[in-house]
Amino acid sequence: MGDEALLRAGEVILLVDLRRGKRHLVTLRLGQAFHSDRGFIPHDTLVGAPEGTVALTTRGARYLALRPTLAEYVLEMPRGAQIIYPKDLATIALFADIGPGQTVIEAGVGSGALTLVLLRLVGPTGRVISYETREEFARRAQRNIEARLGPDVPLTIRPQDVYLGIEEREIDRVILDLPEPWRVVETAAQALRAGGLFCAYVPTVPQSQRIHEALAAHPAFALAETFETLLRPWNIAGPSVRPAHRMVAHTGFLTLARRVQPDAGGSPGPAPPVASDEDADAADGPGPEGA
Ligand code: SAH
Repeated sequence: MGDEALLRAGEVILLVDLRRGKRHLVTLRLGQAFHSDRGFIPHDTLVGAPEGTVALTTRGARYLALRPTLAEYVLEMPRGAQIIYPKDLATIALFADIGPGQTVIEAGVGSGALTLVLLRLVGPTGRVISYETREEFARRAQRNIEARLGPDVPLTIRPQDVYLGIEEREIDRVILDLPEPWRVVETAAQALRAGGLFCAYVPTVPQSQRIHEALAAHPAFALAETFETLLRPWNIAGPSVRPAHRMVAHTGFLTLARRVQPDAGGSPGPAPPVASDEDADAADGPGPEGA
């Protein structure tokens, strides 16, 4: 392994308390120290150490030092607005089919969790344009993004209300995390290229119903689907193999639709293939072919 692998001054690392599981993001700076309620760790003992090192505080508590994954980073980074959780970020990545070279419109930027995922997926040849009305959130998100990716990212933050319209055209994806996504449907239809994808994340059932119905009724959108993702952690410790007692029971619902040729949409589409169609047919009795 080369020196690349060794922890460097200036980078953000994750310290995990091995007894209690608590996690901390720390920017390594020579001469500084990480303080816990059980003593401290001088950063100088971490700079130059390989990833995966266990460091001891002055009172013997054990901390594991690693570079954070993107999911670990977004969970621990400072928040202005509530973030989208990793299980939903992962789902958006594939169901909204974000990929290299795309131009993606996002609103709003919030704390920048989704923005970081979009930037990773579109890569250096893509572009992310984030509409955000609140300046303090834009600043917070920019700090979080720069701490992770540096200043050189293909991101434009527009200090604008997306309900008043999207200026860009021939966009690949529009991804929304704000309270009234149905107010963006018409402008998104104009901004998206044919075949492009619309995705909205909302926390409540009435919001989901409203955005789903707006997309399903719009002549330039088809294949509207709405679903949620549940993630249940398991406890695996000797004979105790069972679901964890606690879980995040609810975050939000995703609603997706495809931008199609004008008048190719606007009617209720087929049931979405989120689960396997074969499973669904088996549960409902004989499907079209079996009837
Ligand atoms: N997805 C973000 C969190 C977004 S929170 C993350 O993962 O970190 C919702 C954000 O939408 C807030 O920052 C809010 O200021 C912004 N917002 C709400 N309405 C808006 C509008 N009409 N136009 C632009 N931004 C808006």
